[in-house]
Formats: sequence, structure tokens, C-alpha cells
Amino acid sequence: MKAGDSIRCPHCGADSFLKKESVMEGWTKVGEVLKCASCSAVIADAAAPEPETEKASRAAERLKRFLGAEETESIHLSLDEADRRFCKDCVNLIRHPFVLRCALDGRAVNPMDDCDRFQSR
Ligand SMILES: [Zn+2]
Repeated sequence: MKAGDSIRCPHCGADSFLKKESVMEGWTKVGEVLKCASCSAVIADAAAPEPETEKASRAAERLKRFLGAEETESIHLSLDEADRRFCKDCVNLIRHPFVLRCALDGRAVNPMDDCDRFQSR
């Protein structure tokens, strides 16, 4: 359903059409509804399908980032053994869900940091 669609209004029974109106909370627009043009009864919440689409696109975005990360990983794995002095491959790396730490000095490190105290796992 969208604005301009013709309807048989369940409220007033008229052959009417939908008009879109903003739902305001003070000065903030909180959504949109489709109303009967004759009696102004709310027929549908125009904004309702939006969050679903947004959620889906966010999931797709996350997946893309995940795949992107995988790609980056495989590029670095193809580097020569000698060049691989990254913290992510180091025996001193402490893996944690949110932050990686170096066991040598306890500082937060990035997976692709490199360091002269690197020890291969
Ligand atoms: Zn109506």
C-alpha cells in the first residue's frame, strides 16, 4: 500500500484513496501513516515495513564486511614467510573477543601490527 492507492475505506465505507501523513511527536517526525482521504482514519503504518528492510541490509552489510575480512586475511596469508611478522601470527598474542593484547607488555595491538619481538607460533 502506498499514498494514492484507491481503497474502499473500512472505516467510512467510501471509495477513497490513501494519503500519507507524518506522525509527529512534538517537532520530531516519528513515522508515516497512510490515511483515508475522506475520513482520515489510519489505514496502515507507512513506515512499518522500513525497519525490516533496514535490518536485512544491515545483515547484508555485516556479511559483506565479514567476507571482506576473509579476503584481506587470505591476501596476507599469501605473503612470504619472512614478511609475516604480524601480531596476529605471534606467539605472544592474547586473543580476546574485543581486543587483542600482547603478552609481552599487555598493550592492545592490531592483528596487522608488526614488531621486532615477533615470535612465530
Ligand atoms: Zn474513510
